[in-house]
Amino acid sequence: MIRIVQLRDKCIGCNACVEAAHTRWRISRKDGKSVLIGAVKNKNVHSVIVGDDELIENMQALRNCPTRVIQIIKLK
Ligand code: SF4
Repeated sequence: MIRIVQLRDKCIGCNACVEAAHTRWRISRKDGKSVLIGAVKNKNVHSVIVGDDELIENMQALRNCPTRVIQIIKLK
């Protein structure tokens, strides 16, 4: 399992995460920033725990994010 984290206030809505992992990310129509689908919100920190099957595409999202607001933590 992995935890995906987004520090959402610094997101610029560039869509790169959506292109890499469209089942986990989408762009909000309200504010134009990306939404981490299924995430729990704690102030600016949005996070979700998902299976390892989503690791590769979300690592691509992490690498593509120009503002470095995506983090991935491997869980045991
Ligand atoms: S790649 Fe980063 S900056 Fe771009 S929309 Fe996704 S989270 Fe926001």
